[in-house]
Amino acid sequence: MDVLEKAFELLSKHALCEHCLGRQFAQLGYSMENNVRGSALKVSLTLQANDIANQKSAEGIKRLKVLATKGFSREAQETLKHLKKRITKKEMPGNCFLCESRFELVEGLTQKALKVLEDYEYSTYLVGIELPVKVEEREDEFKAAFNIGYGESIKHEFGRLLGKALGERTGKEVDYLAPDVVVVVNPFLEKIRLQVNPLFVAGRYRKIVRDIPQSKWFCSDCHGKGCEKCGGTGKLYPESVEELASKPLLEATLGEKSAFHAAGREDIDARMLGTGRPFVIEVSKPKKRFVDLKQVEALINAAAVGKVEVSDLRFTTKDMVRRLKKGEGAQKEYLLLAEFENELSDEDLHMLEEKLSNITVKQQTPLRVLHRRSDLIREKYIYKVKVKKVSLKRALMEIRCQGGLYVKELVSGDEGRTVPNVSDLLKNRAKTLKLDVLNVIMDG
Ligand SMILES: [Zn+2]
Ligand SMILES: [Zn+2]
Repeated sequence: MDVLEKAFELLSKHALCEHCLGRQFAQLGYSMENNVRGSALKVSLTLQANDIANQKSAEGIKRLKVLATKGFSREAQETLKHLKKRITKKEMPGNCFLCESRFELVEGLTQKALKVLEDYEYSTYLVGIELPVKVEEREDEFKAAFNIGYGESIKHEFGRLLGKALGERTGKEVDYLAPDVVVVVNPFLEKIRLQVNPLFVAGRYRKIVRDIPQSKWFCSDCHGKGCEKCGGTGKLYPESVEELASKPLLEATLGEKSAFHAAGREDIDARMLGTGRPFVIEVSKPKKRFVDLKQVEALINAAAVGKVEVSDLRFTTKDMVRRLKKGEGAQKEYLLLAEFENELSDEDLHMLEEKLSNITVKQQTPLRVLHRRSDLIREKYIYKVKVKKVSLKRALMEIRCQGGLYVKELVSGDEGRTVPNVSDLLKNRAKTLKLDVLNVIMDG
């Protein structure tokens, strides 16, 4: 391929700006922008046409006119003027065939994007480009018709130019995988849309009182709207771990809303002790990302004093949410106070420790959660059970097991749905009076 002849062939068919002409040769030559390629081609073609005009006037003038009109070349226009040839206004095309001269808007779009970004804190960004379908189709057809092998796409060039301009003005970094913000630009509608990605904050919580649910519990009658049953709050419980932990963070980040993810959950009436349960709060559309998490942690703990404590707050990624969900099956340690129908003997305690350590329990979905979980038999491992009698009919049980085991049902037997179980092993019906989670052991 003769590069110059190819460029002239394109120009003689279609009006092309410097960007769109240069882009068809984007993979030739390094360290230059497409408009520089386009400009160099047009200047070279002008020199060549001038030389032809000097030998056989008509052909050279014809080529200069193509360059002056469809090539928008100021150099060709001046050369024609010098040769005392005129081009009429009517001969001038309106816009570039491929981009409709939208590359002229890059600076203006950059300014607009900077304005939209002003309200947000971010360290990384990415530019996304939206184009009308007809624009991309037109370029595809053009490339096929002229057998263009070296081109870059118009979308890619817009993205690259805007991305570079934003980086130069803001000093921020491009992140292709997980940017804080995505600036979506439509150069044809001259519209900018900002996609603000969520902020993820990880930590651990301890719940030191009973009767606070982990997540916001909507009223079963009004589903959050507020009714007589819930006193207009829309909730069955006035507060939750989720709300206590999320509110100060949401306020500090000026986010739109938040979601609470945790590695499993304890029953409402169980405490969560030890080093606490891992969680991640996902804040949607945060305006502030550079928040002092030590300060947020102090605010949460001050507002929730005596109820919930959070610790070890730190920034994390979406990936942590996936790991938490997987971690639901991680080991758990429980402390449970059981009450029996009949008196307990020392042999009973020994027998329980022996029969319940290092075993697999078959557990059919408990009756009390059947309404929200499908009816399956799950196998869960118990590593160790320690039992201590505290009165004639009461014992403390320490249970280390695989996460997801319903320990209250391990005690009661849940009408034979959990096998083995404490009640059946001792032939002495037992129930749970108090339950605490002592530890959630996450690997990694
Ligand atoms: Zn163009
Ligand atoms: Zn209600």
